[in-house]
Amino acid sequence: MASNLYDVMIIGGGIHGVGVAQAAAAAGHSVLLLEKSTLASGTSSRSSKLIHGGLRYLEGMQLSLVHECLRERALLLKNAPSLVKLLPFHIPIYKDTSRRPGLIRSGLSLYSILGGLNHASRFRSLSRSKWHQLDGLDTLELEAVFRYYDAQTDDAALTRAVMHSAQSLGATLETGAQFIAAQLNSEGVSIQYQKGQQTISCNARTLVNAAGPWVNQVLEKITPEQHPHPIDLIQGAHIIIEGQLTQGIYYMEAPSDQRAVFAMPWQGKTLVGTTETRYDPAMNPGKVAPLASEINYLLETVAHYFPAYRNLPATEICSAFAGLRVLPGTSNHDGAAFSRPRETVLQSDHDSAIRLLTIYGGKLTAYRATAEKCLKRLRPSLPTQTPVADTRKLTLQDPLKQ
Ligand SMILES: Cc1cc2nc3c(=O)[nH]c(=O)nc-3n(C[C@H](O)[C@H](O)[C@H](O)COP(=O)(O)OP(=O)(O)OC[C@H]3O[C@@H](n4cnc5c(N)ncnc54)[C@H](O)[C@@H]3O)c2cc1C
Repeated sequence: MASNLYDVMIIGGGIHGVGVAQAAAAAGHSVLLLEKSTLASGTSSRSSKLIHGGLRYLEGMQLSLVHECLRERALLLKNAPSLVKLLPFHIPIYKDTSRRPGLIRSGLSLYSILGGLNHASRFRSLSRSKWHQLDGLDTLELEAVFRYYDAQTDDAALTRAVMHSAQSLGATLETGAQFIAAQLNSEGVSIQYQKGQQTISCNARTLVNAAGPWVNQVLEKITPEQHPHPIDLIQGAHIIIEGQLTQGIYYMEAPSDQRAVFAMPWQGKTLVGTTETRYDPAMNPGKVAPLASEINYLLETVAHYFPAYRNLPATEICSAFAGLRVLPGTSNHDGAAFSRPRETVLQSDHDSAIRLLTIYGGKLTAYRATAEKCLKRLRPSLPTQTPVADTRKLTLQDPLKQ
């Protein structure tokens, strides 16, 4: 261990925790990150693996979120070319599709402007003569297909790469290290964590709670008592099925509820997701698993668009996984998570001299911007240091692939 007093201590080795570790180390601070299991063992290996602005967030006019994500997408395409790849996305529109061509064209125009009108933000309507090239997409009653560009990553590899970058700047990582308690005091924070049979104590000037779906469980272990932000945990499932899509990603409207569902090429197979199912807050987030109803919903959606997937034998489903979104809480139990804001909420114990900062929600895509916002909030509580790097310029590589 580098020292017994860290400038920044972080709970959680998902994309947000490692992002804060990188930003803090780049700003010249001493950093310790605690992860109870392995890096990206929570939501950050169970996402849809898209580095995107989120076209559908335009429906809720979340313009600043989309703009920020598109800016971050551009940085990731430059800094992590082995991990983040631009791919064509296709939006098929049939006679009965609820989002009509005019709406899609306006949405893509706005998306393109927010993306800076560069080559990555181009889009067009594919001519009818090209439709037969689209991986067996059903062309019956098909009226239009729009093609635009967004990016795909390996979320777990990206998380490892950001942590690797943080470590190369001096940050310390402890995996298999479960945070058990912390006390805020006039000097900063005293922290205890469990590693194997050992209970280890250390001190930090600031503590960042980046525990994802466990965020409020962590908060409960901090004294004096903290007031948790009300949240809902919304489960999202994916299935992986046989068959490789060769033309990119398909953005489908689920026939039963008109939600967006993606079919994506993934490691020689096809990844289909996702769903939105309210998760019982009394359940352990570590136990999240796809429900039979979610698997059926995803199979029905992909079969609706790709006739080859109709009557799919169960053996063609290779695997399925689920993760949990942290969304602002609501008393509305109608399951309308789809339209809820996806902005990250940062909550602190104090307005200026912050000892504890908690991250709620967020996007994989915007992790760097979120981490820099965290650092800005923590700065008044940290010693003045000379930055050693700029996170906008750091290249990222999966340490397992070097
Ligand atoms: C289904 C789904 C699809 C998504 N798709 C996309 C997408 O395509 N693009 C996109 O940009 N975003 C996407 N997101 C959002 C994105 O995946 C999440 O915002 C992000 O992964 C959350 O990361 P995190 O670091 O906050 O949490 P997590 O990745 O869950 O990390 C929290 C970590 O904290 C650790 N931890 C918990 N308690 C303790 C403790 N006591 N001690 C030590 N460690 C602890 C956990 O083990 C875990 O590793 C998706 C989310 C979901 C659920």
